Amino acid sequence: MLTINRFLSVLFMITVSALFGSFITYYVGEQNTKAKIIATNFHQVMHETSYNISTELNNLNNLNNFKALLDRKAAQNHLISALVIARGKQILLTTDHSIRKLPKHIHHHTQHQSVNRHFILDNSVHELEFEVYQQNKPIQLSLLLFANQPEIKNYFADTYYQYFVFFIIPTLLVFLFLHQLLKKFLVKPLEKLRLFAYYHDRTPQPLKIKELETIRSSMLQTFQLLSSEKQALYRSSRTDALSELPNRYQLNERLEWLIEESKRTNTPFAYLFLDIDNFKKINDTLGHDAGDEIVVNVAKIMQEALRAYDIIARVGGDEFVIILSKYQNLIELNHIIDRVLLKISQEQIVSNQSINVSASIGVAFYPKDGTDGQELMKSADIAMYEAKKQGRNQHHYFTEELNQRIQIEVNLEKELHLALKNNEFELYYQPKVSSKTKNIIGIECLVRWNHPEKGLVPPGEFITIAEQSGLILPLGDWILKEAIENQLHWQQQYNIQLPVSVNVSALQFSHKDFFNKLETLVNELNFPANFLDIEITESVLMENTQEHLNTLKKIRGLGATISLDDFGTGYSSLAYLKIFPINILKIDKSFLDDYDSKSGAIFIETIVNMAHNLKIDVIAESVETEDQLNFLKQINCEAYQGYLCSKPLPEKEFIELVKNSLSTQA
Ligand code: C2E
Ligand code: CA
Ligand code: CA
Repeated sequence: MLTINRFLSVLFMITVSALFGSFITYYVGEQNTKAKIIATNFHQVMHETSYNISTELNNLNNLNNFKALLDRKAAQNHLISALVIARGKQILLTTDHSIRKLPKHIHHHTQHQSVNRHFILDNSVHELEFEVYQQNKPIQLSLLLFANQPEIKNYFADTYYQYFVFFIIPTLLVFLFLHQLLKKFLVKPLEKLRLFAYYHDRTPQPLKIKELETIRSSMLQTFQLLSSEKQALYRSSRTDALSELPNRYQLNERLEWLIEESKRTNTPFAYLFLDIDNFKKINDTLGHDAGDEIVVNVAKIMQEALRAYDIIARVGGDEFVIILSKYQNLIELNHIIDRVLLKISQEQIVSNQSINVSASIGVAFYPKDGTDGQELMKSADIAMYEAKKQGRNQHHYFTEELNQRIQIEVNLEKELHLALKNNEFELYYQPKVSSKTKNIIGIECLVRWNHPEKGLVPPGEFITIAEQSGLILPLGDWILKEAIENQLHWQQQYNIQLPVSVNVSALQFSHKDFFNKLETLVNELNFPANFLDIEITESVLMENTQEHLNTLKKIRGLGATISLDDFGTGYSSLAYLKIFPINILKIDKSFLDDYDSKSGAIFIETIVNMAHNLKIDVIAESVETEDQLNFLKQINCEAYQGYLCSKPLPEKEFIELVKNSLSTQA
């Protein structure tokens, strides 16, 4: 491609050639003019001299008289070296005695001939023939002019030099000047613009040439816009838009830096994982705008409560990471964390409502609990989970023990999924017994897990995890179906007509499809629903009260009964018994443990009486001794469950038990 420099060089060459051409033509013209002047001059000298001689000479012997004339003529003109008069080949008179012979090449002078530089330079001897009369007889003589060739050459060379000086040098100077001008105003600014376009760091000063200046200023505008957009993009890619806190990306960046620093100085730091409590519920009830407002508030509170060098980042919907690296000791760290939690839990006004927000924090330490962002996050998350588990609005430190427990839970969860596929679950059955007659009046289904390695796993070890992982839904479906199918089978096969109680977890119960599924199942199997009892816990009554009340009513509408399980472990609010359509109250083992103390006994009796007043039956759970049974009889508690009668049994053994019991009744 053509560069400006190359373009200028070509331009230079063209200019120089053109100048040189015109110089040559001019120069040659000049030289020829000079040649003509010299030729005319020679012509004049020869004519004048020959005229003088021819008019004044009448005898050849007097020719010497003209020697002075010839000498004078030759001396007057520095371009003439000698004048010679000859007759034929014989020299008669000469101004230069060194000329003894006539040269071969002689130019015969005529008036009309074309004269140029070569003519002058090539012909050193010019001849003019003339006649003189001696006694009226014409004699042919010739006048020879010897040109001073070196002098003539010099003469021409002189002008050559002059031209060079006056013509070429100024041209070159002008050209150089132009070149410099172009360089200064065009080449350099263009180069600056090029560099600016490449690196856009050094902004060139305003340029002199208008077009270039337009380009420069528009480039400047573009780059300024680009760089501000780039900065905005960089900022937004590293900042959470809602809270304006650093996002996960920036957190990782700063964490990497902090880890390096921490390695160097050998000081640990605390990695906190904060999660707003019940955030989903807030979002669901107050709306997402309120949720956003809370996130912003919490972010602000943290920024106010912590110091500028603490790192605070938003890493999820309601999840934040705080990194504290400057604390004296664990007591101070505890204070800082508690201060944050306290400020968050102070009343907040959101969407014109005052609500109570709280958060849970898990704490992990670098390098003890993790050596990179991922490990620290995982450990802090585990600790945070524990804080939630222990009642929320608190912090919990990560421990290895906690980690192992979580690991076990995680593994268990994986195994549970497989267990359902591999049909490893089995129902055990425990009789419900009449206190007075000891007759079996009902059955409770209790799930067991036949683990291929661990053997029989009781539900206490996996129900919670099944609930956490959502596996309780398919498992619960399976239990209900299994319980109803077996009951039908027993009715038909062994004429066992006993209501079957199925435990339904809160999560399963609150699922929107729970009742529909139950209804479909009952209808499909053509199962008499009055043989079905659903055991729920108080937690079902406490959450989503209206919805759950409706579901309970529908279950009752189907013909099934409702048992309230574990009464005495939760809130045990008597108000529930009034509101909810409950058929049976199951008094928990913990109440019964106290039956032999006076207050304990009164307590149980009161509950039984009150339930009876509300037309609710009572079953005591975990009855193990005759004494307990006797007490129950005394207070008119009509039924019980417990080892006193039987442990939960696998199907076959349970059928045997029931058959035996029926035969003793008969
Ligand atoms: P739960 O519904 O209160 O069941 C009673 C628990 O007490 C059973 O434990 C039973 O084996 C045990 N038990 C019965 N009689 C006695 C006794 O005399 N003394 C003592 N110490 N314990 C007795 P299990 O089978 O380990 O079940 C524990 C809990 O797991 C159940 O408490 C229930 O909440 C849950 N669960 C069991 N099966 C299911 C199920 O199919 N679905 C759901 N959602 N939960 C279940
Ligand atoms: Ca139960
Ligand atoms: Ca119970």
